[in-house]
Amino acid sequence: MENKIVYASAADTIVVRFADTTQACREAVRIHDAGGSASDTLCRVLTGAVLGASLMKNDDDLFTLSVNSEGAITYVTATAAPSGDVKALIDFDKENLSETVSKSIGEGTLNIARELGVGEPYRGSIPLYTGEIAEDITAYFAYSEQTPTSCALGEDIETKSDGRAGGFLIQLMPDTTEETITALEQDLAKSRPVCELLEQYEDPKELLTALLPGLRPEVYFEKDVRFNCGCSREKAEQALISAGKDNLNEMISEDRDFPVVCPYCNTKYMFGKDELERLLSEAK
Ligand SMILES: [Zn+2]
Repeated sequence: MENKIVYASAADTIVVRFADTTQACREAVRIHDAGGSASDTLCRVLTGAVLGASLMKNDDDLFTLSVNSEGAITYVTATAAPSGDVKALIDFDKENLSETVSKSIGEGTLNIARELGVGEPYRGSIPLYTGEIAEDITAYFAYSEQTPTSCALGEDIETKSDGRAGGFLIQLMPDTTEETITALEQDLAKSRPVCELLEQYEDPKELLTALLPGLRPEVYFEKDVRFNCGCSREKAEQALISAGKDNLNEMISEDRDFPVVCPYCNTKYMFGKDELERLLSEAK
């Protein structure tokens, strides 16, 4: 399976999501020129966001996963929708990257925000547990949301031209029996790396059966995963309007074209003096 997220369950009480995010990760890595452990970090956070969004209900809900730290990687964030659309960005100091994700990140926090279309987003945050991201996501759900969770993420797009990226998220519903939990623990203790599973199995049901042989996984449906920033000239205009009258006046006084660059996809929207004056009339 490629560039898809699979919605499934196992033993009736286990929520299972498995995603191949290869194409979206390659796109994000290319846009942000992320190499080495920055590439791995971007892939993991992007995949984590896709998996998190798949637990939400409405098409216009959004799930954002981000990491703030004081290491060579200072910030990485990804926002995904239940549709499978995802965007991501990363700030890092190329010169000081370490071999591993956790060493490049150092101390920091993992943050989650859920936007439900209306009202303020729900936000949660924990100190990084291992800094390898998958374990941090597992810890976030266990401690902040009291939901027993297992997350695994993997990527080998840096080292192989036909490499893959993806991951899974498994959550227990409250009525899961001890027997099922034991069977799950046994399966996960023997589970193979995510990329290996993605390379070997085209069929989602076969893949999940290989991952959870003791738990009769059932696949409900699949959705395509794609890097889709969703930015537009209209949104860039709104950003300028909300920057306020003072800022717009200052820009107009410079009498030149101003770029608004989307931080997720690097698309540049240019605004001339006439347009800035029009936006000024709409600003507060
Ligand atoms: Zn964009």
